[in-house]
Amino acid sequence: MGLRDLTRQAVEAAITEFDSLGRSTFLKRYGFGEAKTFYIKWNDNLYDSKAIAGAAHGKLPGQLPLRSDEFSGGENTVKRALENLGFIVVDERSASARNPTWARDELILALDLYVQFKGNPPGKGSSEIVELSTLLNKMGSQFAGVTREFRNANGVYMKIMNFRRFDPAYSAQGKVGLQRGGKDEEFVWNQFAQHPVELHAAAKAIRSHIGGGSAPSIDEESDIAEAPEGRLLTRQHQIRERSRAIIEAKKRKVLQLRGKLTCEACGFDFEEHYGERGRGFIEVHHVKPVHTLTTGSKTNLEDLSLLCSNCHRMIHVRSPWLTVAQIAGMYKRQ
Ligand SMILES: [Zn+2]
Ligand SMILES: [Zn+2]
Repeated sequence: MGLRDLTRQAVEAAITEFDSLGRSTFLKRYGFGEAKTFYIKWNDNLYDSKAIAGAAHGKLPGQLPLRSDEFSGGENTVKRALENLGFIVVDERSASARNPTWARDELILALDLYVQFKGNPPGKGSSEIVELSTLLNKMGSQFAGVTREFRNANGVYMKIMNFRRFDPAYSAQGKVGLQRGGKDEEFVWNQFAQHPVELHAAAKAIRSHIGGGSAPSIDEESDIAEAPEGRLLTRQHQIRERSRAIIEAKKRKVLQLRGKLTCEACGFDFEEHYGERGRGFIEVHHVKPVHTLTTGSKTNLEDLSLLCSNCHRMIHVRSPWLTVAQIAGMYKRQ
């Protein structure tokens, strides 16, 4: 089995899934990066062609998705296979070089400005827009591969104005067709537009991490879905719940208090089930809202919950993440 077995139906099923998960979660789920060149054009949206092809293979009866390293994505493989099925595949090399997809962190900063100015942002020459453009370029350089100016004031202004199509106050203007990345725009709007305090806190926290040291890429090994607050703060959550010293302190404290380490959601006890091998093992989850994770804010032991690996994964597997109480309520006891 391979690309030549793909059907139109399977590809459409993958596109539907892409739409419902959002781009970043879809790419993460199937282990693909963003397409550099070829995109499927479908209902005015653009879809990473190789990732869609790989996922579509898993939609064929009895077949698994293809992994990124199992086939090459390019003109003679993915592009041809999709075109043979009647899809339009476009070359976005120039377009994506001009204007890479906006990440959620960037959209949050843009929406924060939009909300502050109640849908009437100052012009593209204003200090606010210029400042945001500078900030976004700085954040871009924190991530591998983006080293040039790519969010100019004009583009920033246009992106902010784009939010109007979700804004009921402007709905009379009619809905403009979604562009690439439009799903994330809609997601960020739905998540934050009605919660200006949380939005502003998230924007502040994101700003506090821009220009900070190491590249804040999300750990590729983990199955963590990006938090609604975007890449920088997702990474902060991971860093905080993996800090050795604080994990050990938390475990010591709970052991003193209760004599054993059990999952706060389902009650699982690793030592009880795995004997000696499970003694002292439990995962730690940082429960404070992600938008509070500004640089320099401290992690207290009360900010941490003990969870078994299953419950911890289920919290993070989709965006938005759940609370410990939500996952406990969801867990079905035998
Ligand atoms: Zn559990
Ligand atoms: Zn966690």
